[in-house]
Amino acid sequence: MPAPEPRPALAGIPVYRAGRPAGSDDLKLSSNENPYPPLPGVMERAAATLGRMNRYPDAGVTDLYEALARTTGLAADRFAAGTGSVSVLFSLMTAYCGPGDEVVLPWRSFEAYPIAIAAAGATAVPVPLRADATHDLDAMAAAVTERTRVVLVCTPNNPTGPVVTQAELERFVAAVADHVLVVVDEAYVEFVRRDDAATGLSFLAAGRQNVVVLRTFSKAFGLAGLRVGYAIADVLVAEAVRKVTPPFGVTDLAQAAAVASLEAADELGERVEAVVTGRIALLEGLRAQGWEVPDSQANFVWLPLGPDAHLLAERVHPVSVRPFAGEGVRVSVGTPEACDRFLDLAARWLTGR
Ligand SMILES: *Cc1c(COP(=O)(O)O)cnc(C)c1O
Repeated sequence: MPAPEPRPALAGIPVYRAGRPAGSDDLKLSSNENPYPPLPGVMERAAATLGRMNRYPDAGVTDLYEALARTTGLAADRFAAGTGSVSVLFSLMTAYCGPGDEVVLPWRSFEAYPIAIAAAGATAVPVPLRADATHDLDAMAAAVTERTRVVLVCTPNNPTGPVVTQAELERFVAAVADHVLVVVDEAYVEFVRRDDAATGLSFLAAGRQNVVVLRTFSKAFGLAGLRVGYAIADVLVAEAVRKVTPPFGVTDLAQAAAVASLEAADELGERVEAVVTGRIALLEGLRAQGWEVPDSQANFVWLPLGPDAHLLAERVHPVSVRPFAGEGVRVSVGTPEACDRFLDLAARWLTGR
């Protein structure tokens, strides 16, 4: 008997093959994680929820929405949380796209984008980055058709690192029709140190209903393992996202850790500062060796290696980095020791070829 067939849209989605990189966590520079362990206070607040794991969590995610409302000054009904901002992105796609609809996205960018688009049955319209690894927003605006429902903007861009500037994003949002949703993925916003960088929130503050900002606790806040991310949006957009998000995804444990992290912003900010310092050192170190590295405003840097991507990733063992076949290698900013180790191996690669 023939097995049940999934929707044809799934044919183009690659199967995720788990491969835990060999080596220690200390030298794992492949997933843009925060290298610092959780703050003791955050762990305590999370652990205090464990005694009620027989109960469902708060489906309304009330504490987190109230904490986010306090930190942003926006109303609590402007948020939609999920198990990581990737899951919120999937919800956004489900809520706004279907077969026949187009989604314009920059490419190379975050590998979850094409999957979320295909899973919704929509068609991805990738627009190549410019030579300096930045978004080509003029080309993206030109790629919008009457079938376009969503445009994705990733700033800083994963895996290449540069930001979109506020002036560029303003021009772009003005050029795109009001019924097209502009999703501004700000997974790395806390690491940005350029004054001219775009902030999606400014568009929401100005009353733009078609701009959605995605944020996460996985990177700067160091909670990747707990899976919490959220959208900040117009009230109706946030409501649409919450409608299609599977209920009870954000556990009490995750919610408590996220709220405690928002309250520990100063302490966490010092760690973010250390990562930014590490990024600058890594960029300068690589450039001093002769590498051409795009300006990164995130917690990683990009080496445009083309066909040598996988080879370099093998050569820098036991440091693990993230190769993108035929394109380049992304190196996350880890501890100073891990970054120095990588710099050493990168220098050896250059001299050894
Ligand atoms: C890491 C990342 C996310 C967030 O992932 P989570 O699901 O929140 O862990 C979102 N967008 C981009 C571009 C990322 O790199």
